[in-house]
Amino acid sequence: MILIDGKKAAAELREELKKEVSELKSKHNKVPGLTVILIGDLTPSQIYVRNKEKSANEVGLKSEVIRYPDSVDEKTVLDKINELNKDDTVSGILVQLPLPKHIDKQKVIEKISPSKDVDGFHPINVGNLSSGYESSIPCTPLGCYLLIKKIEPNLTGKKAVVVGRSNLNGKPMTQLLLKENCTVTITHSRTKDLKAECLEADIIVAAVGIPELVKGDWVKKDTIVIDVGINKTEKGIVGDVAFDEVSKVAKALTPVPGGVGPMTIACLLKNTIECFKRSQK
Ligand code: NAD
Repeated sequence: MILIDGKKAAAELREELKKEVSELKSKHNKVPGLTVILIGDLTPSQIYVRNKEKSANEVGLKSEVIRYPDSVDEKTVLDKINELNKDDTVSGILVQLPLPKHIDKQKVIEKISPSKDVDGFHPINVGNLSSGYESSIPCTPLGCYLLIKKIEPNLTGKKAVVVGRSNLNGKPMTQLLLKENCTVTITHSRTKDLKAECLEADIIVAAVGIPELVKGDWVKKDTIVIDVGINKTEKGIVGDVAFDEVSKVAKALTPVPGGVGPMTIACLLKNTIECFKRSQK
């Protein structure tokens, strides 16, 4: 079984991006810039944002974090996004989710210019991805896709089962696999026989949020299994895949932690650089 090392893959990707930033700097005399807006003091969000900032600095991006208290009003945030949309030194804007209840998430997402939407959540980018046009791609599914391609460069004709249909993970993952000519089944909480669907798959991507949902006898031999889940349990952080069981049958599997997670931030940096390059065209 191949244990897919997301930390190593992310470090390699950051190394490539670092070189690219340095080349872009020589060519354009400026570097791509990432601005993150962080509202409130939720600990996981603080940690994510700190890691994002650290990684952005590591590859040589210009990075900025704008912090607001929980009590900030929606207009202040929308006005700030407007200002950043017009700022030439800002290539990518990310508003860290979740937001306080009094701020409308969809309004915030739609305020970000699609050309600076490094999360790929703007409806224009969602539409472009599903139409097969150039777009920002949500970072976690992009990371999963890059990991799958490392194991199997040619995905044409493969049967892929995506477990979970969230806008963040399941749906964009489906689009990426379709683009690679996979036959994709998207499954969810109302799917009748999830085990039977998974048993058909050459590739399984699990993004559900249920600890160890995908069992060893749901997976056929030679299947690539990507575990997006991050679940806090009594025995620590586990994924959506029963690692011990599935690792005995799968061709390749991502661990949790150390699989998809590290790729997510690296892909955010990649998206920032892509936004910069498109803005220079
Ligand atoms: P979500 O709650 O938005 O969506 C979960 C999806 O799972 C839904 O579409 C739902 O229909 C489906 N589902 C629920 N119960 C099911 C069942 N019994 N069988 C099949 N499908 C079922 O979740 P999300 O935002 O996509 O996140 C999923 C998981 O991925 C969470 O554990 C989250 O913490 C993790 N996550 C990890 C990263 C990362 O960087 N590794 C990033 C984002 C999310």
